[in-house]
Amino acid sequence: MQKVLSFLLVLALLSCKKSSKSPVETLNYKTVQQQITAKETQHILFTLAADSMKGRDSKNGGYFKAAAFVTDYLKSNNIQPFYPEYRDSLVTDSLVSYNLVGQIGDYDPQRKTVLIGAHLDHIGIRGIEDDTIYNGANDNASGSTAVLQIGKFLAQYQWKQNVLLALFADEEKGLKGAQQLAKRFQNEKIDLAYMVNFEMIGKTLTTGSNQVYMTGYNRSNMAEVMNTIAPDFVQFLPQAKEFNLFQRSDNYSFFKQLNIPAQTLSSFDFQNYAYYHKAEDEAAKMDIENMNQIIQTAAFTLAKMIDQKIPIQLNPEVDLE
Ligand SMILES: [Zn+2]
Repeated sequence: MQKVLSFLLVLALLSCKKSSKSPVETLNYKTVQQQITAKETQHILFTLAADSMKGRDSKNGGYFKAAAFVTDYLKSNNIQPFYPEYRDSLVTDSLVSYNLVGQIGDYDPQRKTVLIGAHLDHIGIRGIEDDTIYNGANDNASGSTAVLQIGKFLAQYQWKQNVLLALFADEEKGLKGAQQLAKRFQNEKIDLAYMVNFEMIGKTLTTGSNQVYMTGYNRSNMAEVMNTIAPDFVQFLPQAKEFNLFQRSDNYSFFKQLNIPAQTLSSFDFQNYAYYHKAEDEAAKMDIENMNQIIQTAAFTLAKMIDQKIPIQLNPEVDLE
């Protein structure tokens, strides 16, 4: 009997060991490269930055066309609505709009949650010249594309932490969408481990290809952790500190409201693109191959961070950037 029992115990341990090895643990970069393609990155980017999206502003309705595309994309890639129809509604300047929030796998309130986000809106149609549509390809169809591609990739696996995706409304009207969602998460006691935001990743960083910089670089160990997984991926940009970019995108509300690491990845470094908030910020000007590499590297890095539950912590020393 004793023998049988110990034999069973060994069997149980063996099978336990086998099943505890997640597919993400053995995931290699090559697999990510095969699954996240430049063709699809290009398709999403060109769709979101098309003239028919009218600069993705809620006032002229273009934002809602973009939101409908995103909703279809989430639905068809196994990303469930976190709120009904994915929508978290808000009113900005008397206009109703909504963030879109998707959930990967099951949501368990006992677990920590990782949030991956980007703002979907842009500034619409302005002026009376020939080209009056502000397509916002870099700002921020590129970041939205990253969130969709990374979401689709992550949705293939089971995760030990909750993973949520957010496409924010009304960033260009003063970070309104993210402010609202951060407050809602606080009210609903959603336990965020950290938030990663994507903003303007369509151009190649001057320091090299397949690189981004992180805003608030020293505010947490996030950049260091990412660089351990993907060496040299995350850079420090002096201008990000100088212009306090940490406070100028949707990550900031989550830091401020929830006191968690919440930072933005970007490759717009003030030297590599002359069309920030100009009508000429168009899809054809993006470096698609490099942008796709950034998305692949970010997806690989986030997969490892989430799978290994690597602790991301704020640096207690303030006034760091
Ligand atoms: Zn932006």
